[in-house]
Amino acid sequence: MQDRHFHEFVRRQIPVLIVLALSSGTGYLVLGWLYGVFTPAFVWYLLNIATSAWGVQLYRRFDFATMSERRREAWYRQFTVFCYALFLLWALIFQIFIWQDSRELHYIAIFTEIGTSVVASALLASDRRLFKPIILVLMIPLIVYFTLIGAWYGHVLALFAAILTWVLLYAARSTNNLLLKTRHQATHDALSGLHNRHYFIEHLQQRMNSLRESGEYAYLLLIDLDHFKTVNDTLGHDVGDRLLQDVVARLLRCVASDNLVARLGGDEFIVSGGSHADRDACERAALVLSRALLEKLKEPYTIDNHQLHISASIGVSLLGASAASATRFIKEADIAMYEVKAKGRDGVFVFDEDMSCRVETGLEIERLLHFALPNNEITLHYQPQLDRSGHVIGAEALVRWHNPTLGQIPPDRFIPIAEQTGLILELGRHILETSIRTLRTWHDAGILLDQFSINISMRQLTDPTFADQVEGMVMRHLDDHLTRKLMFEITESIVADDILRITQAMSRLKILGIRFSMDDFGTGYSSLSHLNRLPLDEIKIDRTFVGALGEDESSHAMVTTILNLAGLLGLKTVAEGVETASQHQFLAQHGCMIFQGYLHSKPLIKDAFEQFYRSQPHAPGAAPVLTAP
Ligand code: C2E
Ligand code: CA
Ligand code: CA
Repeated sequence: MQDRHFHEFVRRQIPVLIVLALSSGTGYLVLGWLYGVFTPAFVWYLLNIATSAWGVQLYRRFDFATMSERRREAWYRQFTVFCYALFLLWALIFQIFIWQDSRELHYIAIFTEIGTSVVASALLASDRRLFKPIILVLMIPLIVYFTLIGAWYGHVLALFAAILTWVLLYAARSTNNLLLKTRHQATHDALSGLHNRHYFIEHLQQRMNSLRESGEYAYLLLIDLDHFKTVNDTLGHDVGDRLLQDVVARLLRCVASDNLVARLGGDEFIVSGGSHADRDACERAALVLSRALLEKLKEPYTIDNHQLHISASIGVSLLGASAASATRFIKEADIAMYEVKAKGRDGVFVFDEDMSCRVETGLEIERLLHFALPNNEITLHYQPQLDRSGHVIGAEALVRWHNPTLGQIPPDRFIPIAEQTGLILELGRHILETSIRTLRTWHDAGILLDQFSINISMRQLTDPTFADQVEGMVMRHLDDHLTRKLMFEITESIVADDILRITQAMSRLKILGIRFSMDDFGTGYSSLSHLNRLPLDEIKIDRTFVGALGEDESSHAMVTTILNLAGLLGLKTVAEGVETASQHQFLAQHGCMIFQGYLHSKPLIKDAFEQFYRSQPHAPGAAPVLTAP
């Protein structure tokens, strides 16, 4: 497999060879006419013209961008034959002139042979299969000719010619080695020895041209190692490099020999797989290979006495007869790979149009989110929390975003984007300020709650200015008594990231009187260790477990275990997503203290919450309404 630069290099030699052949060829026509060998010289020149015409056509026909691999290989074969033909013609004119009696023609013939050999050594150095036979075919007859002179000087000349032959071959081979080396450097990655991104994109373009011709399908696998940065950061780059080399060795063992494996950069690799007649078969083959790779890469590595484990995320894109560019397919595999990362890593996804739609709406959301606050599109809803006797004792503030073009966008959709882009800091400050004001006005209006829950993103909590910000707001709007009603909900899946920093931030806020609740409990990792290390006051049982109550046994076990555990640790318990009376009953029987869910109320706008509060039994000025079973 040769690359674009190589082909453009050899192509550039065609006009040079043609101009040399045709311009100097006219001299031989004249000589032929002067020395009575016009007809052979004329026929020779006609052959030269014909070969040159073919060369022009070859030159014109070459277009790397649109050629398939097969057509490019055929083109190169024809180019080789063209070179052989052109140089054989020079060997032929030597033969024509050398059999004449005229001494002048002999001199000319000898010079022709030497000159042509020098040209071959200089211009054809790109390919050993070209310059070697051509130099030999030109120089050996000359050596024979000198030897046949018979006299001592003939032998000396033959020796000189032999030495010259060796020098020409040596020079061409040196240039060839240099070309190969620079080409290797330009197309390979030094650490892994694999092809690089630049080469891969060119290869892919050719591959797509081939698929367009054959109507077949092929696949791309984009492989990204999970948490590779941690290895680099904790064990150093040397170990990181060695790990990468071991990963490459495993990759190469798993893929077929005709697949191309390249390193796109860092810990990202790409495989271009074999062709398949139909799309489904192609997708199946991609998944089979991906799963085999995932298994293989997960086996432990031993580097400098370190036992290392690493997994990978693989994105697959399928190539067919499409007019899209090579980089587009890499992008698609990239999107699929990020989907795997988002779903928890160590897996494989095949790209589909839905994914690209999601990415596009994601970008649109990101763009419009910048204007959401200034345009007053962000509001808060409040979901009531009830105690065992059915009294509203708390509220959770839930953000809502209504955009004129996108409509209502669920927080699950835009909060992660706000977190990624850092917009959560501004948005979070607004949510916090609004919530704190609400708490104040409600308190002043006689709506007395035990707790007021606000969702806090990790990005906010770990922001160095966050504690000061909260302190400022609390000082402006609340007193100590009201501050103690604030409950910050944090999600455990992100807690794992940086436990020390998080504990420190939480401790500062606890001094102000703020309490903490572990949201979505049971869905993250190592929940138990977090319970010990974080200064928590409350656990919220995730709504997936509550929703599954009555459907599967394991959720019963899960919920009772969480409730027992919270009891032992002296933590309050909230069940979220309570939708049915039987869920409520089960939770109440097993000691759950607070209930939140559609059974009691959906999240409400501020006024509606006030009405809901006042309508409960024993509320100031309330009519008795049964809200809990
Ligand atoms: P979350 O903190 O787990 O919030 C509870 C979600 O459950 C809310 O969804 C709520 O509307 C929904 N829910 C309540 N009761 C029921 C029920 O009975 N059945 C069902 N199926 N769902 C119920 P929502 O409002 O869509 O919020 C989704 C997530 O977005 C929240 O999950 C939270 O992680 C995030 N979020 C919402 N507001 C904020 C915010 O102000 N700041 C931050 N950082 N995240 C927020
Ligand atoms: Ca929450
Ligand atoms: Ca939750």
